[in-house]
Amino acid sequence: MSFERLFEPVQIGPVVAPNRFYQVAHCNGLGYRMPRALAAMRGVKAEGGWGVVCTEEVEIHPSSDLSPYIEGRLWDDEDIPALALMAEAVHRHGALAGIELTYGGLNASNLTSRLPPLGPRSATIFGGYGPMQTRRADKQDLRDVRRWQVEAARRAKQAGFDIIYVYAGHGMSLAMQFLQRRLNDRRDEYGGSLENRTRLLREMLEDTLAAVGDTCAVALRLAVDELLGPDGLTHQGEGHDIVAMLAELPDLWDVNLSGWSNDSTPSRFEKEGYQEAYIAFVKQLTSKPVVGVGRYTSPDAMLSAVRRGVMDLIGAARPSIADPFLPNKIREERLEDIRECIGCNICVTGDTLTVPIRCTQNPSMGEEWRRGWHPERIAPKKSDARVLVVGGGPAGLECARALGQRGYEVTLVEARRQLGGRAILEAALPGLGEWRRLVEWRLGQIEKLPNVSLYPSSPMRAEDVLEAGFAHVIVASGATWRRDGVGRSRWQPLPGCDLPQVLTPDDLFAGKLPPPGRVLLYDDDHFYLGGVLAEFLAQQDYPVTLVTTAPLVSAYTQFTLEQERVQKRLAQLGVELRVQHSLEAIQPGCARLRSELTNAASDLACAAVVLLSERQPNDGLYQELRPALDAGQLASLRLIGDAEAPNVIAQAVFAGHLAARQFEEAPAEGLPFQVERLQL
Ligand code: ADP
Ligand code: SF4
Repeated sequence: MSFERLFEPVQIGPVVAPNRFYQVAHCNGLGYRMPRALAAMRGVKAEGGWGVVCTEEVEIHPSSDLSPYIEGRLWDDEDIPALALMAEAVHRHGALAGIELTYGGLNASNLTSRLPPLGPRSATIFGGYGPMQTRRADKQDLRDVRRWQVEAARRAKQAGFDIIYVYAGHGMSLAMQFLQRRLNDRRDEYGGSLENRTRLLREMLEDTLAAVGDTCAVALRLAVDELLGPDGLTHQGEGHDIVAMLAELPDLWDVNLSGWSNDSTPSRFEKEGYQEAYIAFVKQLTSKPVVGVGRYTSPDAMLSAVRRGVMDLIGAARPSIADPFLPNKIREERLEDIRECIGCNICVTGDTLTVPIRCTQNPSMGEEWRRGWHPERIAPKKSDARVLVVGGGPAGLECARALGQRGYEVTLVEARRQLGGRAILEAALPGLGEWRRLVEWRLGQIEKLPNVSLYPSSPMRAEDVLEAGFAHVIVASGATWRRDGVGRSRWQPLPGCDLPQVLTPDDLFAGKLPPPGRVLLYDDDHFYLGGVLAEFLAQQDYPVTLVTTAPLVSAYTQFTLEQERVQKRLAQLGVELRVQHSLEAIQPGCARLRSELTNAASDLACAAVVLLSERQPNDGLYQELRPALDAGQLASLRLIGDAEAPNVIAQAVFAGHLAARQFEEAPAEGLPFQVERLQL
């Protein structure tokens, strides 16, 4: 087998990873609140071949309370059973379970516990929690932190974990904050020289090894570069020197970039393997195994990283979310079946919005326990029913694929020549090329299903649908950007919206470009598209002014960890930014804006306006077919995806999948999914 090397076992301290596929810690919004869902999600990854499956950050004490975020919790013995569920689920498939014990320090808001957080000095807590600062940890505090780490390590061992972490990544732990010169101004033996600043981390490693190192591996997650130049750790400077100092101490080095947005950067900004340049030095300084990340989805890139001696284990969070069965598919040489992560970071919003994890590519992510969904398996068909799916966007494609997997005879019709709906259109925009994977994977899977037929260039009217003679019709006809400017911040049509120089994203997708001159891009949508279209227009040499009602450009991209990058890129491209302004009217050659802060009106000279306000569901076909359903001419009719309720692409894929799973199934009695509740 050509990828044999990836399936070699790796000794990690006293334990052996069965292969080189390593699911590094990743948050998921399930955490301590949904332990069964968490265990099932992690268990599926072990089933899919990941040799090591780790938790997310796990709080070791109430004074390291990461609320409002839903992470793991190991505050005392009562928390052991919930985590043991996960370790058992992972062991069931022969994988090792890892746990990332975390003492958050400056990253712990303690909004729940109301205890004073600890820091190397009194410094402002990260994130937008409010004006709160840490208490400078004294020697007793540090002894306490070390004791809490040891107690948590013992509990983790009792819960069944094989790899136990000391966490100094992402700037999110006290041990790392002690390393950082800008945060550590101490004059005692924990401050000053790098050796002193490393003392707490070294002690925590030594303590953990002494406590559990006989049977568990002790891993160190360390951010070797913060991309802050001399103000931070760098891989040529202190990041390098820390690795040199501690080289043989941990059983495993898990190395990455800090902060989190540098580590989980969307594909719009970083491509596969982007961390290699920063972490490659580590293996030269230690004989211990090294794991690194870089959104690896290609087996060739993984193999090459191992062969070149960059890392021993291929770390992955997002690739394992998009395809929990990635390792098995490589082992079985089914490379075309790998569902590659597209790098959209919708999964990250599980954490940032404190909701259960979602994935654009993998609709079963987070649904393994509560809906009983498996990423690879699905119930077989119940009858020989034939289904017509109208619309080949993310919703229609996923629906046709999953129905086809069930064994149904499926016909998918799509008006455009190209399948893929908005995903394929958006994939042509700057930085979003990987969006294609969503469409390509589904088309590849459908190609293998003789029972699914695709008909592009086939716009369907209601009479065409009825004439085609299908008893079951699923309408996935998408949505259209509104031309009248009605949206989040206006409820009546925008004066001048019917002028010829007014365009919508759909016009740009169709290849229509604005006339020469300044383009006003009006973003009342607030997610990525406004910023991407501004970038696209700037690349076409248009002077662009991005006007948004939000206080930030592409404001919602804060939740996908990219807002600062978006704003920076637009500034670099010379896009003029005008936040907290609404668009009041458009006239030939100019547009009238109003400041949402001062209410002052101003005119902006522009040759064209691109409107991103809201989308109008294309539900006309469905409405026209309703009477046929009521008259019994159709046995079933369902509206899904953006045509039902416009949303992010992940939701369209989910809707398509849900419709396929529910097809011919009796409606659930009671709640649509299992709920994890406190047992009183
Ligand atoms: P979603 O995200 O819900 O999948 P999209 O807008 O991405 O929605 O995709 C919907 C697809 O449906 C588009 O490619 C569109 O061309 C197609 N479509 C819409 N109406 C019809 C129709 N009447 N007949 C065939 N295809 C249609
Ligand atoms: Fe990748 Fe997007 Fe899925 Fe996250 S949500 S794993 S970034 S495809």
